[in-house]
Amino acid sequence: MMRIALAGNPNSGKTSLFNILTGSRAHVGNWPGVTVDRREGTYKSKLGEASIVDLPGIYSLSPYSPEEVVARNYIIDDKPDVVINIVDATNLERNLYLTTQLLELDAPVVVALNMTDLLKKEGSSIDVKLLEQRLGVPVFSISALYGTGIPEMMENIMQNAGQKRRGDTILKDGPLATAFDAALKIVKSKNLSNPVFHAVKLLENDSLVLQAVGMTEESPEIKEVNALVAAANPLMDGDAVVADERYKTISEKFVPALKRAKKEGELTTSDRVDKVLTHRFLGLPIFFLLMWFVFHLTFGEFLFGIEPVPTPGSLLTMGVEWLFGYVNDGAVWLMEAIGAAEGSLTYGLIIDGIFAGVGAVLGFLPLIAILFFFLSLLEESGYMARAAFIMDRLLRKLGLSGKAFVPMLMGFGCSVPAIMGVRTLENDKDRKLTMMLIPWMSCGAKFPIYAVFAAAMFDKNADLMTFGLYLIGIVTAIIAGLILNKTVFKGDSGTFIMELPAYHRPRFKSLMLHLWDKVKHYLVRAGTVILASTIVIWFLANFSFSLRMVEANSAESILGVLGNAIRFFFVPLGFASGQDGWKAVVAILTGLVAKEMVVSTMGVLYNPGISGDALEDEGAQAALIASISASFTPVSALSFMAFNLLSVPCMAAVGALRSEMRSKRWFWFTMGMWIVFAWVVSFVINIIGNGLNAVFHWF
Ligand code: GDP
Ligand code: MG
Repeated sequence: MMRIALAGNPNSGKTSLFNILTGSRAHVGNWPGVTVDRREGTYKSKLGEASIVDLPGIYSLSPYSPEEVVARNYIIDDKPDVVINIVDATNLERNLYLTTQLLELDAPVVVALNMTDLLKKEGSSIDVKLLEQRLGVPVFSISALYGTGIPEMMENIMQNAGQKRRGDTILKDGPLATAFDAALKIVKSKNLSNPVFHAVKLLENDSLVLQAVGMTEESPEIKEVNALVAAANPLMDGDAVVADERYKTISEKFVPALKRAKKEGELTTSDRVDKVLTHRFLGLPIFFLLMWFVFHLTFGEFLFGIEPVPTPGSLLTMGVEWLFGYVNDGAVWLMEAIGAAEGSLTYGLIIDGIFAGVGAVLGFLPLIAILFFFLSLLEESGYMARAAFIMDRLLRKLGLSGKAFVPMLMGFGCSVPAIMGVRTLENDKDRKLTMMLIPWMSCGAKFPIYAVFAAAMFDKNADLMTFGLYLIGIVTAIIAGLILNKTVFKGDSGTFIMELPAYHRPRFKSLMLHLWDKVKHYLVRAGTVILASTIVIWFLANFSFSLRMVEANSAESILGVLGNAIRFFFVPLGFASGQDGWKAVVAILTGLVAKEMVVSTMGVLYNPGISGDALEDEGAQAALIASISASFTPVSALSFMAFNLLSVPCMAAVGALRSEMRSKRWFWFTMGMWIVFAWVVSFVINIIGNGLNAVFHWF
């Protein structure tokens, strides 16, 4: 079967075109070795069938990100019959930068000028024939939103199936011509495929190509090539000179095919809206207002505090809780039917273990879905790109690009989708550093811990205490970001291409597709990692080392023994000494499954005899609050909460980290870093808090 690859910049409309061609039926997998999504589907028409691969969105074919490497290796090694290069025609100059590189490959390329509906609306037009002639490949004007122009393009592609094409470069007639010839000679002597592409990459001293020809920047042949590049432009490095030549050709030869309706300096509607939304002073307040609104709709209880009117978040949560209630009742009924009494092994495993653990995690699904819905809405409309732009200046100080802000923000909802969201960042350093900081944006599941302690001992200052904990997370992230930037990530600053796509009206269908993608990931995790770890923790909590079933979480249970054994580590933090100290340690351990478990474990530990969920049963809650205020001081409570906030997050987040980090070393480094920071911050809280207490008798 014929194979077609879709290549283009992020947000150029690849996925939209893919969905039209394949009828939205995609098989999503992974590229080998990296966690970049690989979407494949089948195009069917009376002209024939073709398999379609949606390559990751990229700005260039350099080897700086896994996405770029995946895309270029696919075209070079898997040799698709045709590469459709999707070009956002409203951003012609930037998009053609990739096109000039794709044309250097020995692959038939077809350029699909997308978003032409927007061009038409502003009265602009593109001279397709002229562009075709200058690029030397077929060009089609399409709209992946309305489906126009696509049948014509596909007809042409299917009819010309099987044709071959040799790579060609714009560099061969410019000032780099001699350097290019020298590089081409090296590449040909090594019998590399795609000689033109590889020769150009050699001019850029591309590490992968240097490796392929078995040379380094110190090899005499490469030095000679670099000398020829330096002769053409003594001020810049090879890759900069090549980039410069590309942009020159694009603006001199290709962009003139575009006839802009507006005169130079005249503003489009999008520009006018941006004048306000990205305003130097107004931009930030507007942004925070919007975010507050999104968070209110998600986590708030009543819409704008109007009593009987629920927010979408609370409405959906109620619905799901109602549903869970029935499922739980059903399961209990089933237990009775098969004769498994309360307290028996089967009952304990299924109801107290699996249902409580997985249920607690699934309970967050509605909030996550709502949060994602609104964030996708902002994303699709094009506002998120502006938000990144606004935050860029602040985050730059931490060595992150503005885009890192969105996943960080998502972290306040749930770390799992937030960590998965780092895929949208362009460079490796941004991705790693952002993942390391995300769990410190206190997630929704940590909130119940604060709520219980607030009720137990901070009643007058409950809001201040909660706000303080969120602040501790953020400040720790800032300090750690600054430190990591000066040490681990030293000198690792990537370039940031800020694209501001035109505003779009979001489409319901694509919103729902995005949403389902995210929700699916979360569900899969709940059914795998979380289910498995819940069973393990349940076992540790209910059995002794001699494999006898004991009272849940009691001192004889494996978990209790472990808690006592590692207690010394927590004693300097103020909450692990004394008779009940080990219970706090066990609560921290069960919190590794899901942070909601911290509270339910404490409920069981501090009130043996009262079973049930401490969060829901009012009597259990009152008893828990009483015993907490007896076992903790305000300082040790703060230290305990800070430790839960800053140390290793839940299993689901750890699982997400593991797959997104793509490296064992980095994974373990991050886990270690979390524990170290949690310990140090809690220790400092304990010392300073007790110091202040001794002097001022504050608490
Ligand atoms: P990808 O990142 O390349 O996969 O791009 P998407 O397919 O996700 O599209 C990015 C955004 O552009 C989405 O909001 C689409 O609805 C929008 N879009 C895609 N094609 C067109 C088009 O031809 N016209 C307009 N007006 N919008 C489009
Ligand atoms: Mg896409």
